[in-house]
Amino acid sequence: MPQLPVIDGFEFARSGSRQSGDCAAKDFRRLLGALYAPEGTIHYELQGLPQELGRPALRLSVTGRLQLICQRCLGPLQFELRSATQLLLFAEDAELAAVPIEAEGPERIVASRDMSVLDLVEDEVLLAVPYAPRHEQCTTRDGHAPDAPQRPFAGLRALLGGKH
Ligand SMILES: [Zn+2]
Repeated sequence: MPQLPVIDGFEFARSGSRQSGDCAAKDFRRLLGALYAPEGTIHYELQGLPQELGRPALRLSVTGRLQLICQRCLGPLQFELRSATQLLLFAEDAELAAVPIEAEGPERIVASRDMSVLDLVEDEVLLAVPYAPRHEQCTTRDGHAPDAPQRPFAGLRALLGGKH
């Protein structure tokens, strides 16, 4: 398996670097539980922004097509992934924690000299995938609906906050 690249977050932002590539959905270990089949390719584009809201930042966009699991009939559900985000970079957790949380606006992450591009892309994909995807009309006749809507990624955004 080819080694996916790492970036020096601040250097990448400061120099306005760009990088794009494709990842196999099966390489996203945290995503696998939400997939009906570990197929598909995610295309990503990463761009460094020297000054975004006064900070170095990264702009990340992901596109692709995934097979999710319909939470009503448990059958395959085609999902067109198209998501973009801006990630404001902070040097350390303490600096990030000092900034008041806004519900809207760009995400904030702690940057390092060896940030895994695969992890950045996977985080963005996980946030873009719906919590409880359902067909508008299920075609499976023996479909059985779960009692409560499932939210496999509920709370993920909070967990992601201090990870990098
Ligand atoms: Zn369904």
